[in-house]
Amino acid sequence: MTTEPASGRSQPGTDAVAPVLVVRGVRKTFEAENAPVRALRGVDLTVAPASFVALMGPSGCGKSTLLNLVAGLDVADEGTIIVADEEVTGRSEDDLARLRRRHIGIVFQFFNLLESMTVLENVALPAVIAGRKRRIAESRARDLLDLLGIGDKAGTAPGMLSGGQRQRLAIARALANEPTLLLADEPTGALDSDGGQEVVELLSRLHTGGQTIVLVTHDATVAAAAGRVVRMRDGRIVGESADDGDESLHGGAAVGAR
Ligand code: ADP
Ligand code: MG
Repeated sequence: MTTEPASGRSQPGTDAVAPVLVVRGVRKTFEAENAPVRALRGVDLTVAPASFVALMGPSGCGKSTLLNLVAGLDVADEGTIIVADEEVTGRSEDDLARLRRRHIGIVFQFFNLLESMTVLENVALPAVIAGRKRRIAESRARDLLDLLGIGDKAGTAPGMLSGGQRQRLAIARALANEPTLLLADEPTGALDSDGGQEVVELLSRLHTGGQTIVLVTHDATVAAAAGRVVRMRDGRIVGESADDGDESLHGGAAVGAR
């Protein structure tokens, strides 16, 4: 079975470009043991096609919660989230899985690779799950690995790779279904500065190629690669800047990739 081309992927150069992501009035409260945690207290965010947005803010301010809601991995209590003209909020689990396969690629701090599979199989898996023939999925996976500079590692186990290579592999896997939106939650958070640099260079290259990216980071060097920095605090967006990155960070959680 073939899947139809992703809708909502805007062509560069068209006039009225629909945003890739719209978040409106989103709230999320977690029921914790002692008291409810209001993780998101009314978030609005619009992301244009081909933009590279860094979300920054102190630990616990709601960054991962926001990313998870956008990815349809968790459900908002209130508000609306639209990805590539498709509403994420109010969908069934099946609908969300389909929407994710079609529009979302996601990368986590700790890679979440399948260690019993080869590098190639890890990257091919999402396309196989989406219904592609294994041969076609693996052919695209090979292209992706080449593009991401780890083509020679196709047959090895993920455990044999360096941290930076492991995250590049996770990014290759996230790109397997040509997602409209690539989400990354502290993708350099577990890497040394060389590994972090590899990942930042890769994300910049993908952005230059037109990939829309929203990433969470504590690292000003990583944020500097993004064209737009959005700051969160206590479950809200409190400000933003274009081409930010030199502002000093608070909270001591920065990872030195300088
Ligand atoms: P960040 O990614 O900015 O560090 P998170 O979005 O992970 O912050 O968390 C925001 C707040 O919500 C924190 O206080 C966190 O402890 C809480 N939280 C996140 N996920 C859960 C959960 N599944 N259950 C209870 N509380 C949660
Ligand atoms: Mg987080």
